[in-house]
Amino acid sequence: MGSASFLELARLCEGLEGIASKRRMVELVSGFLRNLKEDELAPAVRMIIGRPLDEQDPKELGLSFASIVDVVSDLTGVSPSKFSEFYQATGDVGESVKLAFQQARQIAMQKTLLEVPLTILEVQCALDAIASATGPRSRIRKESVLRSLFSRSSPIEAKCLVKVIGSEMRHGFSEGLMEEAIARAFGAQLELVRKANMLAGSLGFVAQIAKKEGARGLASVTISVFRPVKPMLAEAAENVREALREHGGETCFEYKLDGARIQIHKRGTEVRIFSRRLSDVTRSLPDVVEVVRRELRALEAVVEGEVVALSTDGKPKPFQHLMRRFRRIQDVEALIHKIPVRLYLFDALYVNGEILIDKSYVERRKLLKQIAGSIPLTKSLITRSVEEAEPMLQDALAEGHEGLIAKQLNSPYVPSMRGKRWLKIKPVLDTLDLAIVAADYGHGYRHAWLSDYYLAARNPGTGEFEVIGKCYTGLTDKEIEEMTQRLLNLKIGQRGRTVFVEPKVVVEVAFAEVQKSPHYDSGYALRFARIVRIRDDKPPTEADTIQRVREIYERQFLAKGK
Ligand code: ATP
Repeated sequence: MGSASFLELARLCEGLEGIASKRRMVELVSGFLRNLKEDELAPAVRMIIGRPLDEQDPKELGLSFASIVDVVSDLTGVSPSKFSEFYQATGDVGESVKLAFQQARQIAMQKTLLEVPLTILEVQCALDAIASATGPRSRIRKESVLRSLFSRSSPIEAKCLVKVIGSEMRHGFSEGLMEEAIARAFGAQLELVRKANMLAGSLGFVAQIAKKEGARGLASVTISVFRPVKPMLAEAAENVREALREHGGETCFEYKLDGARIQIHKRGTEVRIFSRRLSDVTRSLPDVVEVVRRELRALEAVVEGEVVALSTDGKPKPFQHLMRRFRRIQDVEALIHKIPVRLYLFDALYVNGEILIDKSYVERRKLLKQIAGSIPLTKSLITRSVEEAEPMLQDALAEGHEGLIAKQLNSPYVPSMRGKRWLKIKPVLDTLDLAIVAADYGHGYRHAWLSDYYLAARNPGTGEFEVIGKCYTGLTDKEIEEMTQRLLNLKIGQRGRTVFVEPKVVVEVAFAEVQKSPHYDSGYALRFARIVRIRDDKPPTEADTIQRVREIYERQFLAKGK
């Protein structure tokens, strides 16, 4: 068996775009996977679902779209403004790159585009090299690797490369379908593949195990220290009464702290901390590492908690301050004093060789308490009574937290699952987490800043983002200035004073109402939208969906008795 060419993978991905039947997609992808060699499998699985690096890899590519456009322009002779026209016409960066490459062929620039067929492994090595380039001059090194990849790409390969790099395949073949394809390719039960993926948090790794060791290998995948597990997530409940009802009359309410979630892994004196997105944030939080090393009474443990930034009155500081701590990896010491944080623990997944995720919430919490030392747990109350829960909710809000989270007493920890076993009660106005897809330059003193943002919800069917509103309030001038820089790095085109960007930045948006509107293709528009916070802890793949927008619209409609 020779090495699989990247061209075949690119053709597969493009082919998926035109297929509506999920069954057919799974069939095609599983057939493709079956023919790959073991070492090609993991990168191929990742690339097909638009992941340039392994989920467990803490590195990032760090390639701006400006860089991609520069390299493409340089190689193909298509100017950035022409590229922007392509983008206006197609609405897709990958398609625009393909057009640029096709045009280059036509105008006989083919001599620079050698087209020695790329293999999947070569592409993987190049992506790793791009991610590994850091420090001064790293942009030049990243661009030079990209240039060598592109210089060997046909139009369809170039399109696929850009889509993988931007994590935006737009073919509707999701992680869930990839699990099905892996199961089908290697004759394993879907449930086993799903569970292994939950625990290992790496689809490529799971595919390799499925191929090499079959069902037995998959069944033996378990939590391992220093390999982060995808977090369990909550659904929203209207109020404490609904949470009690959903949980069968009795539940445990915990404070929903207004901080950032972390997953802590400890073995002996070594501690590593992962963010909600599973990136390694150990270096940004040496104070938390210290507390865990000192206090956590377990040789080996995987526990979860929330870190909260504290102001002098002991109340939580706005989330934005905390995110600065997460981003910082240099001069951390200075920030530790400026933005002190406190850790509260709320779950234990693994302790001293024992996996706890199948145990009940109550048991896990008991074990957590036993090993927490002096680290506080989130405040909690097991109750059957609305009269007890309601004051707890008011206290949480008065103390500056978000609300409560109700945890079903007998529920296991289900990694990566958003379900009703955990219900969050946030009595503020509805908010939506939306991706910024474009921005306008402002007026007056804001004329040089991108201050007016186009907000979009995700359509899980197509993988596209659909605009549901515009918003120009909520951020401070300093934040707008920083946002301008971030968005310019994601720029993919411009028309007049509107800059179109890759949907990478997620913001939480409060609003008064969802309306039906012919103004946007989505059919909906937000009234009085205001940015509440920048959600650097959320990837765009977890932005709210257009279905959620519809649900909010319908709920409003019912509530108003129209
Ligand atoms: P949100 O925007 O409401 O934080 P999310 O999508 O980030 O939503 P959810 O699963 O909806 O996550 O809500 C759970 C989040 O709430 C956790 O990821 C965590 O950061 C935070 N949290 C705060 N306090 C707790 C707690 N006591 N138990 C679990 N999660 C908590």
